[in-house]
Amino acid sequence: MTLRRKLVVGNWKMHGSHKANAELLEGVLGARPFGADVAVCVPFPFLSETAVTLAGSDVRWGAQDCSAHENGAYTGEVSAAMLAEFGCRYAIVGHSERRAYHHEGDQLVAEKAKVALGRGVTPIVCVGETLDEREGGKTDEVVKRQLSAVIHTLAHCAGEIVVAYEPVWAIGTGRTATPEQAQAVHALLRAQLHAATPHADVMKILYGGSVKPDNAAALFAQPDIDGGLIGGASLKASDFVAICRAAG
Ligand code: PEP
Repeated sequence: MTLRRKLVVGNWKMHGSHKANAELLEGVLGARPFGADVAVCVPFPFLSETAVTLAGSDVRWGAQDCSAHENGAYTGEVSAAMLAEFGCRYAIVGHSERRAYHHEGDQLVAEKAKVALGRGVTPIVCVGETLDEREGGKTDEVVKRQLSAVIHTLAHCAGEIVVAYEPVWAIGTGRTATPEQAQAVHALLRAQLHAATPHADVMKILYGGSVKPDNAAALFAQPDIDGGLIGGASLKASDFVAICRAAG
């Protein structure tokens, strides 16, 4: 079995303020060292101050989206090149909230992942089924379809992404996939990656969906769960720190 160092990524979503961010980041920085890699994905306007605060530390930062375009007349969009200039290590792409509220489809998500990688920003590609899809027995089909678009678009670079399995019914609902339910999907995704790239064994597949300090360790103990993408619990330093500790 390959030992993969775990990765815990906070997704702040549309939360934060100068004051709240400073307190949160201070709490995270003060709790180091962690035995896992740790990052925060923050709203675009906070990238600058996050980069300044975290510079010189081992806590990484990133964005929650990026444009599928390199540059041009795309009002409101933020390019991967701009994120790279801010020192972003990661960009989340294909989060279910963007798929649902901004109608982002599999191919657009794949294009975003490609543009990010091209600028040296690692895309965290989110996949996951809705409750209807799970209850209809379609989980495997849905997540494989979502990942397949990315694999085909990235071709030989497919091994450079981070994947996040986030069942939509578990995001922000307090309802978590059991470790066994999550592991089953992670194993499926790992097998799909194996068929596409020689790097599947070292790739990180994160779980996201109501991860909290009291359920993180059991999820992270699963063989194909390499850490977490954390929404709500990443906004409270003590909770986020506890989850980071559970990862290593
Ligand atoms: C997320 O937004 O990626 C997420 C997993 O949210 P939460 O942890 O709040 O369910």
